[in-house]
Amino acid sequence: MPRQVIASLGAGLLLALLVSGLVFAKPAHSPWPGGIAIVDIGSADQPPPVASFNDAPLLVMMRDDRWHAVVGIPLDTASDALSIRVGDEELAIDLVPRTYKEQRLTVKKQSYVTPGQQQLERIGAEREIIDAALNRYRVATSTGIELAPPVDGPRSSSFGLRRFFNEQPRAPHKGMDIAAPEGEPVIAPRDGVVSATGDYFFNGQTVIIDHGQGYVTMYCHLSDIAVEHGQAVATGDIVGAVGKTGRVTGPHLHFGTYLNGTAVDPAILLPEN
Ligand SMILES: [Zn+2]
Repeated sequence: MPRQVIASLGAGLLLALLVSGLVFAKPAHSPWPGGIAIVDIGSADQPPPVASFNDAPLLVMMRDDRWHAVVGIPLDTASDALSIRVGDEELAIDLVPRTYKEQRLTVKKQSYVTPGQQQLERIGAEREIIDAALNRYRVATSTGIELAPPVDGPRSSSFGLRRFFNEQPRAPHKGMDIAAPEGEPVIAPRDGVVSATGDYFFNGQTVIIDHGQGYVTMYCHLSDIAVEHGQAVATGDIVGAVGKTGRVTGPHLHFGTYLNGTAVDPAILLPEN
């Protein structure tokens, strides 16, 4: 191999190590509604145990030389414990309570608050596509769950907020909003496969990435989409650009993270800002 090729490979490897060393943090067990439970389910000297919650398969990864199940905990969980299935056994996980605040927003375009019949049909059709991508389970070996920030910028701590648009109650906020200028590149936060792209009524131009084993991330309100459905992406690849398409009050990235079809707080998966 020519020397300059070896040198550039070495530089690339060094860069990859620097990047991974700088941007990743190890997500902690976060057992509350909207959080992520990380549960020891067995020793490494066996194949990965099969685990599920509410019949949805769970991500299973190796951590500290033990198999761990990673459980996305639904925002609307009211009990102080939940039960997952590991092989033939039930395993209880204690939860800590968490209540989320209310958020009141004013949206000028009335159709975004009370859509008309034609818009409702469009929203319904899009909901099916989005839900299918968010609930997709692809068999893959997990290399972890930590994420690089998809874009730099101030992060709202608005995950889980119970929202009112023009005083009317709507679904809770199931993501993190990162403020960044329009056109700022958005990168893939870890390796995956693009499982949906589209221009949706509420979410605007959107990319959804499947990271395997039911781990899915979503990018909304983009000004530009740089990837195609089915495309493999690596950490750091540009997937689009920050914008203000869909139901927004200004340019920002809406960043959603999902495990076992459940929206979880992206802050748990990202390094501190
Ligand atoms: Zn948002």
